[in-house]
Amino acid sequence: MNNRINLLLAGLGVLTIPGCNTAQEKEEHSPNILYIFPDQFRNHAMGFWEEDGFKEQVRFQADPVHTPHLNTFARESMVLTSAMSNCPLSSPHRGILLTGMYPHRSGVPLNCNSTRPFSSLREDAECISDVFSKAGYDCGYFGKLHVDFPTPNDPESPGQYVEERRPAWDAYTPESRRHGFNYWYSYGTFDEHKTPHYWDTDGRRHEIKEWSPLHEAKEVISYLKNERGERDSKKPFFVMVSMNPPHSPYQSLDDCMEEDYNLYKDIPLNQLLVRPNADATMEKAKCTPYYFASVTGVDRAFGMILNSLKELGLDKNTIVVFTSDHGETMCSQATDDPKNSPYAESMNVPFLVRYPGKMPPAVDDLLLSSPDIMPTLLGLAGLGDKIPTEVQGENYAPLFLGEKNSVKRPASALYFQNLDGEKESNGLVQNYFPSARGIKTARHTLALYIDRNTHQITRTLLFDDEKDPYQLTNLLPADHPELFTSLCQEMGRELKKIEDPWYEQGILKDLLNY
Ligand code: CA
Repeated sequence: MNNRINLLLAGLGVLTIPGCNTAQEKEEHSPNILYIFPDQFRNHAMGFWEEDGFKEQVRFQADPVHTPHLNTFARESMVLTSAMSNCPLSSPHRGILLTGMYPHRSGVPLNCNSTRPFSSLREDAECISDVFSKAGYDCGYFGKLHVDFPTPNDPESPGQYVEERRPAWDAYTPESRRHGFNYWYSYGTFDEHKTPHYWDTDGRRHEIKEWSPLHEAKEVISYLKNERGERDSKKPFFVMVSMNPPHSPYQSLDDCMEEDYNLYKDIPLNQLLVRPNADATMEKAKCTPYYFASVTGVDRAFGMILNSLKELGLDKNTIVVFTSDHGETMCSQATDDPKNSPYAESMNVPFLVRYPGKMPPAVDDLLLSSPDIMPTLLGLAGLGDKIPTEVQGENYAPLFLGEKNSVKRPASALYFQNLDGEKESNGLVQNYFPSARGIKTARHTLALYIDRNTHQITRTLLFDDEKDPYQLTNLLPADHPELFTSLCQEMGRELKKIEDPWYEQGILKDLLNY
C-alpha cells in the first residue's frame, strides 16, 4: 500500500532536500521543539485540503476557510490525513499528550473540575516535559493546561479557589506540578477569549485585554527572542502552546477578531457548512462564521510565531508541530456536542510536522493515536532511548524521517468515552464509568455504548468511512456480521494490550474476545 505521497516527487515542494545540507548545518545540535495545539480545531478546517497535492489524499471537502499560513506550512511539512484524538475531550487528551498513556493510566479519564478529585494528572508520571527537561532542554508552557484538579490554592488568596464558580474549573498549577516546565505562562481553563488571564512562573496573575491567541503568540515570540531572559539560550527549547480558540464561545465579536469575522459574515450558512452531514437550520449554525473566524485568527497567530522563528534563524533546527486536542462537529451529525464522539469531525485532528532538511514534505495516512505523540516527539529529538517504560504509545519517528521499513504501521486507533461514576452525598464524584469504547481503522469506524448497570450494548455506531466518508449511514451489525465481528475482535485485542477497564472488567467479553 502506498501510504505516503511525497510532495517533492509530486513537483510541489520547494524545500531543502535531505542530505544536501551545508557543512555548517551538518554540525549536530539537539533540535528545538515547538508544539502548537489550538483547542477544538478540526482537521477539515484547513484550506490546503482543497489544493492540488492534498485534495487527492482525502475523501472530504475542506471547510471554506482562510488559512494562508497553514497552507504554506503544509507544503513544508509531513501532513497526516488520519491523526486521531482517541478520547476527544480537553483534559483526557492533554493527559494522554503529556504522559503517552491512555486515560485510565494518565490520571485524567474525565475533564478536570472540582467535583472530580480522581481526574488529575498523575504527579508521579514521567511526562514529556520531564524527559526533555532532564535531557537538558529549556521547557516552556503557554496557554490552557486543564489537567489539574482545582484546589483552593490561589497564590494571591491562599485557601481560595482561583474562581468563584462552582464547580470550579479553572486552576492554578504550582511549580511542584509543572513536570519539568521551567517557564510558565498558563491557566487551567477559562473561556473569555478577549479577557484571558495567566499565571506566570512565579505565580503572578496577569489580566489581559487582547484576543488570547494573539497575546500568546506575542508571549511566545518574546520567549523565542529571550527579550526578558525567559529562557537559557544555551539550551535547546521544548515549548507547548495551547491556544483556546477556536474552542467555544463562538457567537459574537467578543470571541474573535472582527477582520476575520468579516471574511465569513456575508456567506450563507449553507455555503459555510459544506459537509453533507451538516444541518444549517440548527440553532448552532449561526456560530459557524465565528468558528471559522477563530480558525483564521489562530492561523494568523501561528504565522506570527513562524515568522519570528525564521527571523531569528531558529527555523532550521526547530521541529514545529501544529495539531489540536480534538475536533468540532459544528452542526454535523445533528449533535450539539462539539466533541467526545467517534465521528470524524470530533476525532480527526490536524497533525503537521515540519523539520527542515530532515523530514521530506509529504502527506501520509498514518493512523496516529494521541499516546504516540510523546514517544514520537522524543524519537524525533534523538531521545528515543529516554522514552519512559510506562508509555503506551509508539515511536513513529523513523517513519516521519523516511526510514520506511523500520516501523510497523498501526492498523487501528481506539476510541474512548467516560462518564461520571458514583457520587458521594457532598456531590463529589468517586470514580468514572467507561461508557463507550470504539475502534477506527483505515476503512471503518465502530463504537459501542453500554448500560451502566447491565454493561450490555445500548447503542452501536458502525460506518464504512471509505464508501461513506461523511458517516451518513449507521450500518446495522446484523447486516454485516463478519465485519462487525472482525472489528470487535480488533478492538478487544487493542483494549487488552493497553489493559483498559473494559478488558479488566470483562465488559462484553464474549463479543470482544479479549
Ligand atoms: Ca478541548
